[in-house]
Amino acid sequence: MILVTGGAGYIGSHTVKALKKAGFQPLIFDNFSTGHRAFIKGTPAFEGDICNSDDLARAFAEYPIDGVLHFAGRALVGESIEKPELYYETNLHGGLSLLNAMKTCGVKFLIFSSSCATYGTPQQVPISEDHAQNPINPYGDSKLAFERAMRWFHEAHGLRYLSLRYFNAAGADAEGEFGEDHDPETHLIPLVLKAAAGRHPEVKILGTDYPTPDGTCVRDYIHVTDLASAHVMGLEALMGGRVESQAINLGTGSGCSVREVIEAARRITGKDFFARETARRPGDPPALIAAVDRAKKVLGWTAVESGLDNIIRSAWNWASKTNQAW
Ligand code: UDP
Repeated sequence: MILVTGGAGYIGSHTVKALKKAGFQPLIFDNFSTGHRAFIKGTPAFEGDICNSDDLARAFAEYPIDGVLHFAGRALVGESIEKPELYYETNLHGGLSLLNAMKTCGVKFLIFSSSCATYGTPQQVPISEDHAQNPINPYGDSKLAFERAMRWFHEAHGLRYLSLRYFNAAGADAEGEFGEDHDPETHLIPLVLKAAAGRHPEVKILGTDYPTPDGTCVRDYIHVTDLASAHVMGLEALMGGRVESQAINLGTGSGCSVREVIEAARRITGKDFFARETARRPGDPPALIAAVDRAKKVLGWTAVESGLDNIIRSAWNWASKTNQAW
């Protein structure tokens, strides 16, 4: 079985579905602090906390775990600046508890949800995996700290790992089973769709004076279904001994500005809404775009669902189907 920490969360739930399709048997491990019980959908699930070593020990004792996908963690940049202790506790201490449980039980294979936030403000884009890592917030720093721990567990204990550095995860399951539902929501695309649905009076454009073509931030939006398939391909390659332990970027290699996202949302939803230009948000680099050659070379993976229109259409479809959001 494959233990999926955070398997009831946004990216975890999509990946659990992809694992099942590929013939793996996932076991969701989630404390449901931000994950959704409605996302379990019949998959075996264990209610537990990665920060609690007893919970982890029980899960590893009760189920025959062959490998781990580690999604559980905190992921809000702004919150991490205000409460860094939460980020080091969950993302680093919780991660170490997981590594220790794996070591105790002899489980060797780990795929970790890392982030482009580990790079900090890039010196150049596209950003390759060898770019310097100088995170500018505790979120990115806690992810980087865990990456470093994995590397030393690899050296000392033979851990086999992939650290998948996501750029901007977005979109929803094509069949509308899962989607993005955070509380509070801080991400651009769900906020734009809430404005389109009339649930929010406006969307804010956080900064219009960046050194980018239209003055707004540029991000590499990657469809969550593409992220899910990268995990499955990574797991197969890792367990099949076809790939070395390493970090791999997951993105499309091209970027969209905040204004482009807003325009695409207006076009696709057919709804107009007000976009207010405001000051920059602290900690936002002007442009984050992935260099994607390594994912292609090492995993044979490229993004196929990740056009901006498809991302917005799938997110709108999921949000419209589920009353919870609108
Ligand atoms: N953004 C924005 N308005 C919002 C939320 C986000 O203009 O209400 C911008 C933000 O400054 C960033 C981009 O949208 O440049 C993506 O932000 P998001 O929070 O979705 O992802 P992040 O890049 O922080 O991981």
